[in-house]
Amino acid sequence: MSRQIYLDNAATTPLIPEVIDAITEFMKEDFGNPSSTHAFGRKTKNTIENCRRSVANHFGAKPSEIIFTSGATEANNIIIGHCIKNLGVKRIITCEMEHKAVLDTVKNMAKAHNITVDYIDVCQKGNAQLTHLEELLNQTEKGKTLVSLMMVNNEVGNILDGKATAKICNQHNALFHSDTVQFVAHDHVNFREWGIDFATCSAHKFHGPKGIGFLYAAKEATIAPLLHGGSQERGFRPGTENTIGIVGLSKALDVAMSNLEKDVAHMKQLKHYFIEQLNTYFSNQYKVNGDVNKGLCTILSIGFSREIANELLLFSLDLKGIAASGGSACNSGSNQGSHVLRAIPVDDKPFIPVRFSFSKLNTKEEIDYCIGVLQELLKKPE
Ligand code: PLP
Repeated sequence: MSRQIYLDNAATTPLIPEVIDAITEFMKEDFGNPSSTHAFGRKTKNTIENCRRSVANHFGAKPSEIIFTSGATEANNIIIGHCIKNLGVKRIITCEMEHKAVLDTVKNMAKAHNITVDYIDVCQKGNAQLTHLEELLNQTEKGKTLVSLMMVNNEVGNILDGKATAKICNQHNALFHSDTVQFVAHDHVNFREWGIDFATCSAHKFHGPKGIGFLYAAKEATIAPLLHGGSQERGFRPGTENTIGIVGLSKALDVAMSNLEKDVAHMKQLKHYFIEQLNTYFSNQYKVNGDVNKGLCTILSIGFSREIANELLLFSLDLKGIAASGGSACNSGSNQGSHVLRAIPVDDKPFIPVRFSFSKLNTKEEIDYCIGVLQELLKKPE
């Protein structure tokens, strides 16, 4: 089989052996329904509560502040709905660069409940402008406000100053929700100390299973459930728990957090090396989308000049065994281009975007291979 290199880790990551082992052991030993009161059920319930405690510990949260969900899309929907239905939110401030799991949820719920939506300005480097956030929050006549801003942008990798954002929100008595999907397990965050009210996470972005995530709701907020049914997750998220997923999520997070510094240093090196190589072979023929100095180590969004690249670049990379992405995987079916790149106010649009995203499993040698393939595929300028 020809060589396959996976550079699309912002879309999803492979399961690591530690997680596969933990899940396999659990599946062999444990099958009880956590809601059953007999020994089988109690054993599984105990495992879930141990996982919840462990997850909460990584974020300075109480176990009761963590609610397991099917992933971040569901978690974002629950939180935004809860803020509108339960907490009297009349206005939402968000950003056009958010993931669709926030952007479309806000649009739909705002329409249904007659809520005002304001979008925070973005600078040419793709950073949400906190001075604009303050200006918007000073418009107090707009009523109780929820600010929803992601901690790391999934297409360009820009990192929000989460502490500063939370401080501004707290000073203006606004609620702060952050989609922390791309951030957690790649950096430390203490939700409580930072002053974040709500956060959302997804295990498959850090070598855990798909279809499992969680939300953090500070101060044990009474969450308005999206689904109705049983009393699982204290009634906030009915439906028999994804026990296997919860075990995998918890293990993936433990592994990520115990090797964080080493893994992040490795990914930083890969990203810098990739940029160095691009400079060597394609200088003046590419640009980095977003803020190269303020980007997470996992994500590198490149715009290749149309003098050397065309729309088939991603497809050609795929044929050569290199998996990258044109933007967010969730939108790969649509051909409208990236809503994130469109939201960045730059006038040099005619670039072909490719997002390369790294995990701890990638190697320098894979980057060399990828650069070699790019050299083959990209035309030399006349
Ligand atoms: N938010 C961000 C920033 C993401 O990158 C993703 C996944 O692509 C999601 C939300 C959706 O997460 P999930 O796949 O768990 O629904």
